[in-house]
Amino acid sequence: MTHRPLTELAQQAVAKVLHSGDLAIDATVGNGHDTLFLARRVAPDGRLIGFDVQHQALDSARDRLRAAGMQPLTALLQCGHERMAQQVPPEWAGRVGAVMFNLGYLPGGDKTRITAAATTVAALDQAATLLRVGGLISLLVYRGHGGADDEVKAVAAWLDRLGSHFQV
Ligand code: SAH
Repeated sequence: MTHRPLTELAQQAVAKVLHSGDLAIDATVGNGHDTLFLARRVAPDGRLIGFDVQHQALDSARDRLRAAGMQPLTALLQCGHERMAQQVPPEWAGRVGAVMFNLGYLPGGDKTRITAAATTVAALDQAATLLRVGGLISLLVYRGHGGADDEVKAVAAWLDRLGSHFQV
C-alpha cells in the first residue's frame, strides 16, 4: 500500500469540488502550499482569501504565490481564522467552494504559535456558513504537540455536532 501525504489527500478531495472561477479560503496559510494549490484551482477569475496570525507565514506564502503569478487573485490577511466571517466580503456567504484547514504549528517556525481548540471551532462554524451547497471543508488536525489533545477533542465534538446536515 502506498502512503500519500495527508496534505495531498486533502488537496485531491478539494480538487473534486473546486473549479476555475470559484471562491476559496485557506484558514491556515502556513508556508502557503495549500494557498498556492487553491489559487491554481480557482484561477484565472476566482478569488482566494488566506488567514494566518504569523507574519513569517504570510511572507513565505506571498513569495510562493508571486513566483507562480497567483498573487492578483489572492488576499492574505494577518488575522485569526476565528474572524473569518467578518473578514470575507458579505457576498461570499453561501458561495465558497472550499475552506482548507491545516492545523498545528508552522513547520520550521515558532512551535508555540499553534492553532487552538476554541478558535479552531469558531472558525469551523463560520466556514460551514460560508460554504456553498456541495462545497468542502478539508481539515487536518495533528496529535503530539502540546495543546493538541484539546484541539483533537474539540474538532471531534464539532464533527459530531454536524449530525446529518453535512456529509462527513
Ligand atoms: N502542521 C502543519 C502546518 C500547520 S501550519 C504541517 O505539518 O504541515 C498552521 C498555521 O496556523 C501556522 O502558520 C500558524 O501561524 C497558523 N495559525 C495559528 N493560529 C491561527 C489562527 N487563529 N488563525 C489562523 N492561523 C493560525
